[in-house]
Amino acid sequence: MSKRVHEGGCQCGAVRFKTTGEPARAIACHCRTCKQRTGAAYGIGVYFREENVEILQGELKTFEFHSSESGRWLRNEFCTVCGSTVSWTLEMRPGVRGISGGNFDDPHWFGITAHIWTESARPDICYPDSIDVHEKALPVP
Ligand SMILES: [Zn+2]
Ligand SMILES: [Zn+2]
Repeated sequence: MSKRVHEGGCQCGAVRFKTTGEPARAIACHCRTCKQRTGAAYGIGVYFREENVEILQGELKTFEFHSSESGRWLRNEFCTVCGSTVSWTLEMRPGVRGISGGNFDDPHWFGITAHIWTESARPDICYPDSIDVHEKALPVP
């Protein structure tokens, strides 16, 4: 059960990836950066240990930028053919890789554990009662 393998890829299929096991967390993020990255209301980040993510094929280009909030770097990795963001790494979370939730072949296999940066969420977003909702980032333990 804990060794479940899930595959996914970019929109054009040039990039394919595989994850092993359960994600540490799966977060819906309503920050401005995620809105820009996805063009959508929020981004879904499914976070794994780096060693549990394998790029099976394709070329990823990296776009590095710095958070206006913390000043720390984020590196988005996207398909050079179709431009879909497939994954990213964060200075804040070494050894962890985020996977763009919508790029899994089954984009619903994981459960979302929290919604964050809801202070910049669209006003028409509703949250399930069972979900952890944070106005800003997840509290650092
Ligand atoms: Zn592609
Ligand atoms: Zn975000």
